[in-house]
Amino acid sequence: MPSKSKVVISRCCDYQDESLKATLDQLLRHLGGMERFVQPGEKVLIKVNLLSPKSPEKAVTTHPALVKQLIKSVLSCGGKPIVGDSSGGMMKGKSSTSRALDISGIRQAAEEAGAEVANFDQEEVIQVPNIDNPIASEFRMSKVVHDADTIICMPKLKTHTATLFTGAIKNMFGTIPGYQKAEYHRIAPKLEDFSKILVDIYQHAKPDLVVMDGILAMEGPGPAHGHPYKANLLLASADGVALDAVASKIMGFDPSEIATTRIAQEHHLGEGRIDNIDIRGLSVEEAMLSDFSLPSQAILSRISPFWIRRGLGMLKARPHIIKEKCVRCGFCRENCPVQVISMEDGFPEIDQKRCIKCYCCQELCPEGAVVAQYDSLLLRAYMRLMSKKST
Ligand code: SF4
Ligand code: SF4
Repeated sequence: MPSKSKVVISRCCDYQDESLKATLDQLLRHLGGMERFVQPGEKVLIKVNLLSPKSPEKAVTTHPALVKQLIKSVLSCGGKPIVGDSSGGMMKGKSSTSRALDISGIRQAAEEAGAEVANFDQEEVIQVPNIDNPIASEFRMSKVVHDADTIICMPKLKTHTATLFTGAIKNMFGTIPGYQKAEYHRIAPKLEDFSKILVDIYQHAKPDLVVMDGILAMEGPGPAHGHPYKANLLLASADGVALDAVASKIMGFDPSEIATTRIAQEHHLGEGRIDNIDIRGLSVEEAMLSDFSLPSQAILSRISPFWIRRGLGMLKARPHIIKEKCVRCGFCRENCPVQVISMEDGFPEIDQKRCIKCYCCQELCPEGAVVAQYDSLLLRAYMRLMSKKST
């Protein structure tokens, strides 16, 4: 009988080198040690979450101190670590990955620890056939990913306004360089289709090991403008689907409501059913996050279909601009996949009828000036009431 997928959960309350090293060693011991994943001389890609140029305390990007410890662990096994990603969004055709590497502290951490740094937007790309998906029959993926002997995925424990949760599967979306990422939102506006594309990308760039940074997590309207939440956890697994299932469960989701987890499970890319996962270290109950805010879409999906969802239809929050916060940079307009934002009187104006509710504008606005909210005041009040889910 094949052995169960294993997910290890450990408590870690700060980003000090000693605590990180001890916890990481403990996590890896449960999985057979780093030497199970890295052989001497191998190229090891460490795929961090570098969503946007934000400093570590904003909880948007993988913490540089954890990246540094992981690099040291790879080096101790004789591996050649390369830290890489492609951030979201372009401004005047220029990506923000380089700035994100600097502001997140990841470039400095990587270089100090002795790793190469790869900005996927500046590296060669290769065409990867994806014949079973008519919506996206081919991917343009960074060659660094293709050339790696081993891939280690380092997601951040965060909510996501559109996909509800962002973990190991969603983190591999960054292997697609630059503006191409926005193109997938355009060709797959439905969550189910977009999630299938994410799962396909994960399959083509499947990590050998996942180490999730959940010390400073993000709750509410993630993945860029939610609220930092001290979860004090690190998670690790050789099965990214199982890790996503466990991580989403401790946030308060049912893993089957996360489309990427469900689809990956259906395609036998990993184990998405909690009961079939061998959980080591802390139990799910011990790790459960209390008073953790979920994104509004998740709250809506919890409401009985008979008395709200049926009545109001498949409601989705609309993106709105907060003029007081907007600095009129035009970043949202340039990165809207379906080009439905115009600049009126210098401020962005959204054509709500043509908006596909991908929330890229919310995710990428550097000022947090875009919020996703329901038009009905009553529904908004109800959402506020329900947003603190008791675990
Ligand atoms: S909403 Fe954000 S991204 Fe758009 S113009 Fe204003 S500050 Fe820039
Ligand atoms: S306006 Fe915002 S949510 Fe609507 S399609 Fe454009 S980027 Fe997506």
